[in-house]
Amino acid sequence: MAAPWQSAILSGMKITFYGAAGEVTGSQHLLECDGRRILFDCGLFQGHRAESRAKNERFHCDPKHLDAVILSHAHTDHCGNLPGLYKAGFRGPIFCTPATADVASVMLRDSAGIQEEDARYLRRKLGPHHPSVEPLYDEGHAERTVKLMETISYGEWHYLAPDVKLRFSDAGHILGSAITELEIQDKGEWKRVVFSGDLGRRGLPLLRDPQLVEGCDLLITESTYGDRIHPAAHDIEVHLERIIHQAAERRGRVIIPAFSLGRTQTLVYFLNRMFNEGRLPSIPVYVDSPLSLEITSVYKRHLNVLDAQLQRELQTDRDPFSFPGLRYIRSAAESASLNRLTDPFVVIASSGMCESGRVVHHLKHGAGDPNNTIVLIGFQAAHTLGRRIQERRPYLRIFDHEVPLKADVEALSGLSAHADAEDFKWWFDHFANNRGIGRAFIVHGEPTAATALAQLIDHVCDEPAIIPGFGDSFEV
Ligand SMILES: [Zn+2]
Repeated sequence: MAAPWQSAILSGMKITFYGAAGEVTGSQHLLECDGRRILFDCGLFQGHRAESRAKNERFHCDPKHLDAVILSHAHTDHCGNLPGLYKAGFRGPIFCTPATADVASVMLRDSAGIQEEDARYLRRKLGPHHPSVEPLYDEGHAERTVKLMETISYGEWHYLAPDVKLRFSDAGHILGSAITELEIQDKGEWKRVVFSGDLGRRGLPLLRDPQLVEGCDLLITESTYGDRIHPAAHDIEVHLERIIHQAAERRGRVIIPAFSLGRTQTLVYFLNRMFNEGRLPSIPVYVDSPLSLEITSVYKRHLNVLDAQLQRELQTDRDPFSFPGLRYIRSAAESASLNRLTDPFVVIASSGMCESGRVVHHLKHGAGDPNNTIVLIGFQAAHTLGRRIQERRPYLRIFDHEVPLKADVEALSGLSAHADAEDFKWWFDHFANNRGIGRAFIVHGEPTAATALAQLIDHVCDEPAIIPGFGDSFEV
């Protein structure tokens, strides 16, 4: 045990929701039981700058008196405010899988860089004496946070104290993502708590399917796509192959905006497979993102937790994220030099919704050429450049320039890493014959998705599922 656990006070089990309650960011849920205080996730709220900043600055969970944090996975909306928690006085252990610790270490340092840049921007805009010009946290906080991480591999029960034990199962959402099973004594009686984290999908490339777990007294489940059925992922390679061949024939560029964590590795994996099968035309592929390069090297260190298909492919190809013709670009100068190339190429760059990152430069230089193709992957939120491209607006406003949208726009669907209604139903149905669910709490979803999920889970629960609001607290 790394942290001095508080002495047990017989007080019953209580859960309080301090984030991702009726919304999809800022995941943070506090479990209190017999004097123990455990936080599930500590994500950043994302959205409008001022509102998010106010939410991220203030903790309601009393960081100095937490015994531990359990981290489900390394997406920023789940881990991004851990350095803020550290800054506010938290010094306990952060339990997560080994892959999550490695990915989170990259993500938190990157996030600290964004916070520092943000503070510099605000300082310029508001003047040095404005109170909000300090970064939310800095790189030092991120580094010290990473040192608190204690890793537990999938499938192993780990005693946090004689009366508290923890096991992670694969959530199949991103590398290292976990479903948490926590068993804790409540007034001398063992109680079982399950936290879904973000639940993945069955049949996604690279990742294993989400694991089924036994029922529990208290379930906290996400609900992002509880009201939707995703299109199947099987024809993505065929679609991608057609787009790249077409661009090569037209001597154009293929610009693929993609998130650095997860999507980029999936795309490179597909391209690598196409290369191995001789289906990729000989044009260069660039991954233009230092963050993607770092995360890809984490993937390479944790290939053992990826799916069975990949394990078979590793027998003949030791590196699924590299092939002749693929280059990872680190420097900004090299990135800018791509825009001077006249030969066709494929470029994958972040961000996925084209709001920031190097992809914006590629779009500025490439959107006006009818020989080019922009490939959008997945959801494009309202008011983003990605959404305007998806809507095929005749002109795009990029860095204060009007750029005509003449490039082809293609959408690759089916790569969502979140469970849909059918995946949830499959995962919940397993509880029916495996002790059922005492009480279920539905988080991390818009109200319509959460309400739809409540109906999917009803048949395995003793009581109707609850969709908590921010700060709501329940005795269980
Ligand atoms: Zn996630």
